[in-house]
Amino acid sequence: MYIKKITQILRKLEIITYASVRRTSDWWQNVSLGPPDPILGLTEAYNLNKHPKKMNIGVGGYKDDEGKPYVLPCVREAEAIIAGKKMDKDYAPIQGIAEFNEQSAKLAFGGESYVIRNSLNVTVQAVSGTGALRLGGAFLKNFFPGSKIIYLPSLTWLNHVPVFKHSGLDIKTYKYYDPETRTLDFCGLMEDIGNMPENSVILFHPIAHNPTGVDPTREQWVEISHAVKRKRLLVFFDMAYQGFVTGDLDADAASVRLFIDECHHILLAQTYSKVMGLYGERIGAFTVITGSEEEAGRVLSQLKILIRAMYANPPLHGARIATEILKSEKLTKQWTDELKGMAQRIISIRQKLKQGLEREGSTRNWDHVISQRGMFCFTGLNPEQVKKLTEDFHIYLNTNGRISIAAVGSNNVDYLAHAIHQVTK
Ligand code: PMP
Repeated sequence: MYIKKITQILRKLEIITYASVRRTSDWWQNVSLGPPDPILGLTEAYNLNKHPKKMNIGVGGYKDDEGKPYVLPCVREAEAIIAGKKMDKDYAPIQGIAEFNEQSAKLAFGGESYVIRNSLNVTVQAVSGTGALRLGGAFLKNFFPGSKIIYLPSLTWLNHVPVFKHSGLDIKTYKYYDPETRTLDFCGLMEDIGNMPENSVILFHPIAHNPTGVDPTREQWVEISHAVKRKRLLVFFDMAYQGFVTGDLDADAASVRLFIDECHHILLAQTYSKVMGLYGERIGAFTVITGSEEEAGRVLSQLKILIRAMYANPPLHGARIATEILKSEKLTKQWTDELKGMAQRIISIRQKLKQGLEREGSTRNWDHVISQRGMFCFTGLNPEQVKKLTEDFHIYLNTNGRISIAAVGSNNVDYLAHAIHQVTK
């Protein structure tokens, strides 16, 4: 009592600090300072920069032509409908809102798909794409009877590695992108699949590969499907950009549907971050394709146990928005029109960037700026050139040279072309 009183007086006089009193509990002394996130850390640096021409083209978020965040009008309409319904705030079921899960499966596989007609899909709501991948990782770690190795394309979305490591899986890579030709290394990919041990897991980006924007052709997907089948590999599709490439939801899901038609029992992660612009709502879905309705029931029961332990129940709002859009023919039509608008703006910025580089007098081949698909352009800039872009031109992007075309506007595309030419000439 007496000591406590003295301590209080000393602290008031600032003679001893709180930390020195608690020295006995210095548990975190050995925690080292972690590096900033390779993608989101860029935004922190960008925010500190006061240059009027600064650009943040590292993070994959769609902006309008003036560089402002874009909320899709169909999302605003869905929100107005939801607000009018005065819905409750009760917990969602562990596996999420049933109607949302049904609509998400239909979106991916098509309403008439045999997996849906025969209840072979287990589709649960997930905390966006990242959460879907993490849940999938946990499911594989706990229940996949094959190897605990997941093969990722070389290159891939930077977060794939920590997400699957955190799930307890081992990571290996397969050849995917050829930096020389800036195209798919199809021979390397097929060779690597041929060398994988049977019953391994392989991850594919079904459309708009991140970061390279390079996708297999339909014919190549067919060959990949056959090779995968020969090796009895489990395919995990990470579909983050359905509709973002062509504005056509069915066309952009073609690779996933091909694998379903060829009777692969795939895993699928979906996200509405990019395609509905619902980034901060954290809304996505995770699907396991099973062999029978009875097997589906068992898989669902285990997914619910995993979800319960990870975050208990998913959030409501994003799922309600996506459901309103997907279940209404009118809103779905509006959504796809808006998707097409976004896809077209990205294509036009690609063209303007290439033209700008040519106008600047660049003699390099920039065809890949146009041929790559989706939100990103994998420029081929090396880390040194990226550093110069940031230091000399206040343009922030990841050291791997990936730029988010969706964050460039008509008012700064020429500045970007000028800067890229300056660091590459
Ligand atoms: N997979 C890929 C390939 C992505 O590009 C992204 C978003 N950058 C995601 C998954 C997950 O994003 P989110 O968690 O925001 O839905």
